[in-house]
Amino acid sequence: MESLTEMNDPHPQLFDAFVHFLDSVQSVSQTAAQLAHIIAFELTLLQEIGIGPVMDRCANCSDAFGSRWKYAYFSSEAKGLLCPGCENAFVEKIRLEIHAAAALSEPQRLSKTSEALLRQIQNAMLHHFTQLLHRPLKLAQWFLS
Ligand SMILES: [Zn+2]
Repeated sequence: MESLTEMNDPHPQLFDAFVHFLDSVQSVSQTAAQLAHIIAFELTLLQEIGIGPVMDRCANCSDAFGSRWKYAYFSSEAKGLLCPGCENAFVEKIRLEIHAAAALSEPQRLSKTSEALLRQIQNAMLHHFTQLLHRPLKLAQWFLS
């Protein structure tokens, strides 16, 4: 995390979110609930440091996410979701089932999302952090082992 934040920048909201995350993740035993907390924290982290991904619309053409999308991709290069019409223009991308993309577009749905879809989202997040950090995020991989 130190490589994502400036040393002298206190980020009080990030600290609060991290404390909340630690409390939450320890209060649940199911993998799905833990994954939902991990993903929610990752999204908060990215937003707090000013690089929150675009998830309510296509990051390339701004088409609003909706049911006419049959699938979606997450791309670090595009900095968010890609609609079916744009994904061909990007090589670096992770395919998401439509319900996984829906949960990302409305993060309050994460707690009601299945473990299989949450794993798909977390894989996209790990991919994203790997792209951002130029190396794998070891801690996050440990959570999925
Ligand atoms: Zn698009």
